[in-house]
Amino acid sequence: MATKIVVDAGHGGSNPGAVYQGRRESDDALRLATAVGKILEANGYDVTYTRTSDVTQSVGQKAAIANEEGADLFVSIHRNAGEYPGQYSGVQTLIYDDSGIKKQMAENIDANLAELGFRNAGVSIRPNLVVLNSTQMPALLVEAGFIDSDTDNRLFDSRFQAMAQAIADGIMETLEGAQVASSNISEEEPQEEERHRPPMDRPPHRPPMRPPIPPMPPTRPMPPEEPEEELYRVQAGAFRERQNADNLLQLLENDGFPAFIVYQDGLYKVQVGAFSRLSNAIAMEREVREKGYNTYITT
Ligand SMILES: [Zn+2]
Repeated sequence: MATKIVVDAGHGGSNPGAVYQGRRESDDALRLATAVGKILEANGYDVTYTRTSDVTQSVGQKAAIANEEGADLFVSIHRNAGEYPGQYSGVQTLIYDDSGIKKQMAENIDANLAELGFRNAGVSIRPNLVVLNSTQMPALLVEAGFIDSDTDNRLFDSRFQAMAQAIADGIMETLEGAQVASSNISEEEPQEEERHRPPMDRPPHRPPMRPPIPPMPPTRPMPPEEPEEELYRVQAGAFRERQNADNLLQLLENDGFPAFIVYQDGLYKVQVGAFSRLSNAIAMEREVREKGYNTYITT
């Protein structure tokens, strides 16, 4: 049976992820995730996409799709952002821990991308990300360059197809390498670390699945930048430090809210949805507030 890979385009819909000069992480992620998936499909892999259009999805929903699919591998495509524009550049792949096949795959992906001219920021262990700790299969999150770096955006636009190939190659060469390795040692004593489980298995100390994500309010939030009309936004915090905004974003995402960060007037504003109707913003604000967040509605 073909190896089943779930390819996730990060963010989406009312959660654009990082935004820089009107460029949205969710759009770049969707384009690149689709291109990576197409290459994997063409090479005989069984690919499922978490989204193929600009829809809102919580990170819990993304992980649930991979779990329901019974996928062998989950790869989430994102773009990074620094504390202020132009601060950082480079590619980086995030994993839950360094067990199994994940670390080698992350290193291969980063190395392939670095060959295209990206700075290699290296593999990073991130146990707190929902798509990494709630997925029941090896999971990777690829930060395909910084969206607030002009250098990285130039590379992203000029070497787009090569980037997709670099990521797909990193995945495929690692999977094929693991297959060769396991067939080579099948007659022998298993390697020390892998004695109790095959390389694709999940680590035994992986935390249990999170409880179901609370339902979204009845109406879908509007995409944040609708130019022609004023939008009501539910804001949960505004910070000078990117890290503080990221922390709040993670909490909101863990609670199933489609949160995103907007950089405005020197502040990282953490918002949940953008609504054309005030009543929808109020309904969302009530839900967020009930979860214990300090919120207010802004335009
Ligand atoms: Zn992201």
